[in-house]
Amino acid sequence: MSETADIGSFLHAGTLYTAMNADEAVSDETSEHTLDLEFSMHPTTNQSFENALAAARAGDRLSVADGIELITTGTNSPGIDTARKEKVLEIADRRRAERVGDAVTFVANLNNNVTTACNTGCLFCNFKDSAHQFESNADGDRDHGGFTKTPGISQATVAAAVDRGISEVTSVSGLHPAFALNAEHREILAEYDNPTQEVNYKSPGQYTTDPGTYVEQLRAMSVGNVHLHSITPEEAHHARRGTDWSYEQIYTELRKAGLDSAPGTAAEILVDEVREVICPGKMSSTEWEAAIEGAVNAGLDVTATIMYGHVENAAHRITHLKRVRDLQDRTGGITEFVPLSFVHQNTPLYKRGVVSGGASDAEDELMIAVSRLFLDNIDNIQSSWVKFGDEKALKLLNCGANDFMGTILSEEITTRAGGTHGEFRSVADYVELISAIGRTPVERSTDYTRRHELSLDAEVHGPILGPQADGTPLLGADDNGLTTPNIVADD
Ligand code: SF4
Repeated sequence: MSETADIGSFLHAGTLYTAMNADEAVSDETSEHTLDLEFSMHPTTNQSFENALAAARAGDRLSVADGIELITTGTNSPGIDTARKEKVLEIADRRRAERVGDAVTFVANLNNNVTTACNTGCLFCNFKDSAHQFESNADGDRDHGGFTKTPGISQATVAAAVDRGISEVTSVSGLHPAFALNAEHREILAEYDNPTQEVNYKSPGQYTTDPGTYVEQLRAMSVGNVHLHSITPEEAHHARRGTDWSYEQIYTELRKAGLDSAPGTAAEILVDEVREVICPGKMSSTEWEAAIEGAVNAGLDVTATIMYGHVENAAHRITHLKRVRDLQDRTGGITEFVPLSFVHQNTPLYKRGVVSGGASDAEDELMIAVSRLFLDNIDNIQSSWVKFGDEKALKLLNCGANDFMGTILSEEITTRAGGTHGEFRSVADYVELISAIGRTPVERSTDYTRRHELSLDAEVHGPILGPQADGTPLLGADDNGLTTPNIVADD
């Protein structure tokens, strides 16, 4: 799919959009975020809000209709009813306490994304930079603001962060056309008659910087027993393009190179009529699920996400939750669920007028709460301070969430999309913020099996779960950030 996918893509995907009529705006408790899009799936049910609430209160497994009633605070009236919303939030908060207690967890991590080169053209993303700009013979302005790291630079970046005490490296990258699983994969791709057109491949020699292969990058980042969290389903899809290799084979090979778990990003909304609008170049919902199953079969833990607040409606959101719940019933490998609120500024969806904003505060609260209530087989629901900002992210910890993300030392993707919350979070910050809402700060390992409760009385706060962590703060008072370049985060 072309990087310059435009409004024509929407029409090509069979989706009709029209300008929103001002009269159609609902209460201020809902966002003003979309133009009207003609979808086959609508948020209508035969259920009542009261019955859905009773099912949630009783701890019954919720139906899709229950979920739609709860997340809309009733489909029988437009907008979000504040009193009903508070009831949903209260039940979700109670369910969180029953299931995982009062601890608020976080992980000491570094985000080391390898490249921003990508030509997939997702319309909600401003992280990618058109891959041709990275070519050594590219015309025009080379100062595109993106980057590609060699395996050597990745290794130096991770090694410096491991020295400082992190326990996890997260790495999510653009789909660079020169990327391949390994040397064998490169040979297969190069043998196509027209590799650029047929399998989105160009040789590394055509680029200013060679990113190496996925295997080389993972080997480089696998420093001193740090936990390596990388290779989303979309990256696994890229790592098998042009072959008949299974996802399990791909993830097995990557696990041998040092991969410990896979992030379930690229899920966006697992309903294809939405994907055709926002990311027509990406894998289908079914393919995403197959990749996650392949990762679990290869022995890896995985996470799952939802990226909401753009063109989708409540039926799409709950259908997504149902697919994730079914996937967890089948695999048991999902350690956490991460609702990601769409950051609209600087994205093609916003600039082209397809959406006029993101989710409202009320929608964010209900997304977290209904995720907690609907996903009865996933223990951990994350509140992302990068996406929500501190104030709202803290509030969401009282709406059903129990995890507060990681210390990430920089947050490239959200910042590039116009978000303002992407910055390093110290362990001391975590202690202060979490204890301020009366909860217990706990450093965790990526898989949540190792935990360390932080003492409020300690004079300094640092991580202790990393391979070289000893309780020293990740950054000293004189640091402005790590000196290694381009420390970034996932999408
Ligand atoms: S979301 Fe990922 S695949 Fe899509 S354009 Fe951005 S970097 Fe590329």
